[in-house]
Amino acid sequence: MALREEQIVRYSRQILLREVGGRGQEKLLAGGVRLRATGPAGLTAAAYVAAGGTAVAAGPEPLAPGAEGFLVPAAEVGQPASEVLGRVLPDVNADALPPRGTGRVAELPTAWDGEGPWVALGGDGTRGVVVFRGEGGCAGCFEATTASWGAPPSGALGVGLGALGALVLQRLLLGLGPALGACGWEAPGVMTALEVRRCGRCG
Ligand SMILES: [Zn+2]
Repeated sequence: MALREEQIVRYSRQILLREVGGRGQEKLLAGGVRLRATGPAGLTAAAYVAAGGTAVAAGPEPLAPGAEGFLVPAAEVGQPASEVLGRVLPDVNADALPPRGTGRVAELPTAWDGEGPWVALGGDGTRGVVVFRGEGGCAGCFEATTASWGAPPSGALGVGLGALGALVLQRLLLGLGPALGACGWEAPGVMTALEVRRCGRCG
């Protein structure tokens, strides 16, 4: 899929990044995720993922208070995520529609299916966590790691966590970085590496 002229203009800032380039931008445009999120972490991730050219298809869950932000006007809280994103995404980036790709971005707790890449947004009540799995990453280890975390933080911490999650997803779509991992988001801008839990098969 060759980039059209208006796409080269739209994505010029990320095309200029050495790790993205024109080929990388084509990968971001070919990818897509199903979103399961009702709060600020997931909706912020969706905004950045969509702005980067990757497709986002939301589920039917009603948007929670605090979801309002880049994507969601305050009046839309309580409406199904799929309906709201269907209305607002064309204004953010029409390239983010229609649905495609095999990825998944979700706020914990949730179930995981499809090929991936997978990005989980979670937390423990005070800090946030991003757990991710790309091509070749063990699904059992991913699920064992996500099982120890709850819902992601709200407020500014959740917004920052969502932005981090979008960046992690884009790296996975570009084939960069480890195929499995987790990072903590202790405070806005403070990221830490976290251990991945091993599943029964990996020991
Ligand atoms: Zn494993």
